[in-house]
Amino acid sequence: MDYFLTEEQQMIVDTAREITNEKIIPVRAELDEKNEFPRALLEDIAKADLFSIFVPEEYGGFGGGCFDIAITLEELARGCVGVATSYAASALGMYPVLIAGSEEMKQKYLPSIAAGERWAAFGLTEANAGSDASGIQTTAILVGDEWVLNGTKQWITNGGESDIYTIIALTDPEKGARGASIFVVEDGDPGFSYGKKENKMGIRSSATRELILKDCRIPQDRLVGRKGTGFITVMKTLDISRPGIAALGVGLAQAALDEAVTYAKQRVQFGKPVISFQAVQHILADMAIQVEAARSLVYASAKHIDGNPKSMSKASSMCKVFATDTAMRVTTDAVQVLGGYGYMKEYPVEKMMRDAKILQIYEGTNQIQRNVIGQELNKEYSA
Ligand SMILES: Cc1cc2nc3c(=O)[nH]c(=O)nc-3n(C[C@H](O)[C@H](O)[C@H](O)COP(=O)(O)OP(=O)(O)OC[C@H]3O[C@@H](n4cnc5c(N)ncnc54)[C@H](O)[C@@H]3O)c2cc1C
Repeated sequence: MDYFLTEEQQMIVDTAREITNEKIIPVRAELDEKNEFPRALLEDIAKADLFSIFVPEEYGGFGGGCFDIAITLEELARGCVGVATSYAASALGMYPVLIAGSEEMKQKYLPSIAAGERWAAFGLTEANAGSDASGIQTTAILVGDEWVLNGTKQWITNGGESDIYTIIALTDPEKGARGASIFVVEDGDPGFSYGKKENKMGIRSSATRELILKDCRIPQDRLVGRKGTGFITVMKTLDISRPGIAALGVGLAQAALDEAVTYAKQRVQFGKPVISFQAVQHILADMAIQVEAARSLVYASAKHIDGNPKSMSKASSMCKVFATDTAMRVTTDAVQVLGGYGYMKEYPVEKMMRDAKILQIYEGTNQIQRNVIGQELNKEYSA
């Protein structure tokens, strides 16, 4: 379907598509096999100016919105969700600064992020605080003119590879969720180090690592926004970034559909290409319907969010659930269409199926998204 992209948006898609076809696809299986961070690919993405998309023009960026980042992520995910996740994590890490940071903070960090010279990461999750983020135990205490952070963040994308981390910590533990604040911690800050690096089922080229804060001392002006407003900023951050995860699902599902159709046209059984069997055609037809429906919902939700509506949570959660559940189903169907070959590493669909799973889990599981949608419906219908 034609979504009538503007000339600039088509340029973004073409640029990302070229990187995917020429740089990412040739190396994705090796990166997956070796569990290797795609530093060189991220440098290529930086050279193509794609890190500037989510940064406002006044800080050296392209000034794009949720829609522009979604179409970029969709294209990169067609190549490899691990690589696309590493790219997306930099935007996620910088959204708190964009949303709540001071002018000085934006001037300090955003130009180098836009240029792709430095990458960011977002540190919320801890061993005992996943879906229930209010259970975090990391603390930040003001001592003299420095904040002192203590705690361990778990499963942080780009951990150990990024230069800048937004960390959520309790500044007033007795106030619960209203006692959390966000800080910028930089690679090399005293007391900041990296712990366990995870060995994962999928998105194996992305780095997922512990962040250890042990009497980590940072200047007072690294507090993002006002003290105590951390969770409000976190919720806004995730509302804006979730359509990006949904877009990863669309790109991945599209790639799986492409592989399945191409294979079904070539594979001959009973003297005919398997695509000539109606049972196979119906699987492919359902895959195609789901991919297009997911794309439409992601684009519509991203445009809704770019319009800066009063409430964006329902749209953000709906597209995340629908597109990532779609990615899981469509990649699984692609393996089925390829039969035994689909299960082998010679073909990319087994990796696609492994990569799809995380999309239903990170940035809030799809169960949590359904909770959000349900709560929003309840509010809407009481109004
Ligand atoms: C590869 C990877 C990368 C990640 N990257 C980052 C990152 O960059 N930064 C970051 O901060 N975090 C990151 N995370 C953490 C991620 O966001 C969490 O894993 C996710 O939010 C779920 O938390 P959990 O894994 O602790 O699951 P749990 O909260 O323990 O949930 C377990 C199960 O219970 C269900 N459940 C829990 N509560 C409810 C409820 N109230 N209603 C219904 N069902 C419920 C969940 O849906 C899930 O099925 C990453 C995780 C992974 C695996």
